[in-house]
Amino acid sequence: MKADLHIHTTFSDGIFTPKEIVTMALASKLQAISITDHDAVEGVLEAQKYIKNNNYELKIITGIELGTQVAEHAVHILGYHFDCQNDKLRLVTANLRLAREKRLTDIVAKVKNLGYNIGVGKIDGREKSFGRPYVAKQLVKAGYFKNVQEAFNELLGAGKPGYIPQPKLSPKEAIDLLHAAGGIAILAHPSELNNYNLVQQLLTECQFDGIEVWHPSADQSSEQRWLHLATELGLLVSGGSDFHGHSGRFPEKLGDYTIGYNQIKNVIEYS
Ligand code: AMP
Ligand code: ZN
Ligand code: FE
Ligand code: FE
Repeated sequence: MKADLHIHTTFSDGIFTPKEIVTMALASKLQAISITDHDAVEGVLEAQKYIKNNNYELKIITGIELGTQVAEHAVHILGYHFDCQNDKLRLVTANLRLAREKRLTDIVAKVKNLGYNIGVGKIDGREKSFGRPYVAKQLVKAGYFKNVQEAFNELLGAGKPGYIPQPKLSPKEAIDLLHAAGGIAILAHPSELNNYNLVQQLLTECQFDGIEVWHPSADQSSEQRWLHLATELGLLVSGGSDFHGHSGRFPEKLGDYTIGYNQIKNVIEYS
């Protein structure tokens, strides 16, 4: 039995719709998934409805990925099992999406000034959550870079000339928001922080419920390290592929990177 609790859709920066994700998850024989769009729950709601209407045998839990900031570090937090209709959660995420819409316009103006002539068409933060991959794709389409990864490496990544940080919550704000909506908060892809002390500090000082042990950014020895830390601190362990569907960014196909259902059962079946 396999599961994947970290998947993006077209409601944030993934390229597949929630229905396509469900179809691919069934084809890959996944037993449980979560859709974790940046600052948006509309994708997971649509997937849940689709599964229910078709009586598909696929467990899906509510999910979201919230970006937070600690000094210069981008700390991503995954939420699961919260109430998608929670007023405060809906309001805060709607505001984050509007701020992302403005930021995207600013990034486009910035890269235009640098000589990259791209248009992004009409973007509406009420409908979805826009991130840098959206700009990256336009840059690739216009022939400036060969793929999204290259656009990040040379222009859009932190510290690069076209970078503008995303409007963010603090970890405490994000965790409190998830808890108030009845959910749990998991520290996402700790290996991407490249800073063991920071991970340890976050997990001991903030009210995290768990840690994403399995993620494409973690090699086997890192997985062991996160697993050990989780045991030591009594935290839930989770995992997912962070699938977006962009070429050049691992994994390319849903189902290429999965986690044993039983390894993350306590998150999937959390109640
Ligand atoms: P944003 O939310 O606008 O800050 O963009 C973050 C998203 O960009 C992440 O969720 C990834 O999907 C994507 N991303 C971040 N770094 C890279 C990279 N080096 N190459 C490709 N995609 C990236
Ligand atoms: Zn993303
Ligand atoms: Fe992330
Ligand atoms: Fe993600």
